[in-house]
Amino acid sequence: MSADGNRLCAMSFVTELSERMPQRVHAPGTPEYEAGAHVFHGQGTPDAVVRPTSAAEVAEAVRSAVAAGVPITVVAGGHGSDPATGGLVIDLSGLAAIELADGGLVHIGPGAQWGDVAATLAPHGLGVTSGDTRDVGVGGLALGGGIGWLVRMHGLTVDILREVEFVTASGDVLTLDAEHHPDLFWAVRGGGGNFGIATRFTFQASPVDGLVGGHVMFDQSDQRAVLGAWRDVMRHGPDELNSTLLVMPQLMPEMPAGPQLLVALQGSEEELRRLLEPLLSLPSVTDVALGPVEYPDLLEDGPPDKPPFEMVGGNGFVPDLSDAALDAFMATLDHALPTMLLLRGLGGAFSRVATDATAVAQRDGEVLFAVNRLVPDGAGPEAFASAHDGVEAAMAFTNGRYSNFTPEFGDDIVTEIYPATTLERLRAIKREVDPDDVFRPSHHITP
Ligand SMILES: Cc1cc2nc3c(=O)[nH]c(=O)nc-3n(C[C@H](O)[C@H](O)[C@H](O)COP(=O)(O)OP(=O)(O)OC[C@H]3O[C@@H](n4cnc5c(N)ncnc54)[C@H](O)[C@@H]3O)c2cc1C
Repeated sequence: MSADGNRLCAMSFVTELSERMPQRVHAPGTPEYEAGAHVFHGQGTPDAVVRPTSAAEVAEAVRSAVAAGVPITVVAGGHGSDPATGGLVIDLSGLAAIELADGGLVHIGPGAQWGDVAATLAPHGLGVTSGDTRDVGVGGLALGGGIGWLVRMHGLTVDILREVEFVTASGDVLTLDAEHHPDLFWAVRGGGGNFGIATRFTFQASPVDGLVGGHVMFDQSDQRAVLGAWRDVMRHGPDELNSTLLVMPQLMPEMPAGPQLLVALQGSEEELRRLLEPLLSLPSVTDVALGPVEYPDLLEDGPPDKPPFEMVGGNGFVPDLSDAALDAFMATLDHALPTMLLLRGLGGAFSRVATDATAVAQRDGEVLFAVNRLVPDGAGPEAFASAHDGVEAAMAFTNGRYSNFTPEFGDDIVTEIYPATTLERLRAIKREVDPDDVFRPSHHITP
């Protein structure tokens, strides 16, 4: 069909949907459209935005779009997708309720943000193992894995998922749990938005009282020693000890370059200082700020929009953080582009989950590693090409990418995220529940 023909079809679809779902469908030029079409990576230009407030309304929108052959883009918190360039955006921000139920179970809408979840549960002394940034959406993070401050104590977000209310490509509303549609329940725990739309999650929350934490900063005089000491502290530390080690370039004059330890312990400050002693006694320490902390305050405000650079590099689960792996990670710092390293301690509860229990299979991961070269917006193709230098040598120590930390999108990227057997099982489930490939999320698994 011609571009004009496509536009007319889209217009008549939007008119029909608006009649069927008055108040919910938003056309270009309205504030609801602008908000729903906007994601972290920029402003989209879909034909319309629908903002449903129930699973039944999500189902209605799906059925209508499928019948009209209009592509669907699902947006929850908007931190993990490219802006939509056409079709219908299903904006889940109207499904953001957070309700505490019996037994520490909590029902959460996919459009809620993790900062709101933490703030709502904290007065009850509870939290949900998730990410470390307040404005990241529940939907995308929960379907992709979910690695945050409680990962060694309570595992991934998908590990404490007990039930999902779910809309399929045919517009059916299902309840997924260990007994009902167990294959689909397995697939949505790590397989992303490939199978339908999650309209409500039920998680098992955990106590988050008695936390101490903060940061320790180091200068650049012996970064390799910091990495080695951090590895040993985390390798022998208890599950209650969680941390991320960043190696930062100088991004702003007031922010010196070098390693930064972000750490939390469910325990006493004395115990935390004892566990961190090998790091605290290094001569390169420049600043120590440790003390009691509330779980919501551990979460950070992310940047409101994408910063003015592309992050090019790689990430992966590291089964053995050997000296050779640390040397290879350090070697990536030797580059003209500003380079940032991230090492997030895993193990503990994360590793006690069986490889095939969820679609996040790399449970032998001792850490999650990421290297990012910061390529300024507008840089030429040579800068982008050079940003990959040395990354492959570092990735040789990893055994698969973490979906939620993989900004590259498309059909091929999934082979770098899922081991072959996991991907085969995901594809088989996709063929069963979405044979016509209605749902094509950022990390697209073809049927
Ligand atoms: C600043 C920043 C900090 C981050 N920190 C962390 C962190 O600490 N830990 C971590 O694990 N990850 C982290 N991430 C990664 C984050 O988990 C992913 O980007 C995630 O996809 C974001 O979810 P979202 O709902 O905000 O994004 P969206 O862009 O709305 O969704 C991402 C993908 O999931 C699909 N999707 C979302 N909701 C649904 C649903 N209900 N049903 C079906 N499909 C759905 C979308 O279609 C899209 O393809 C961070 C990302 C950023 C940008």
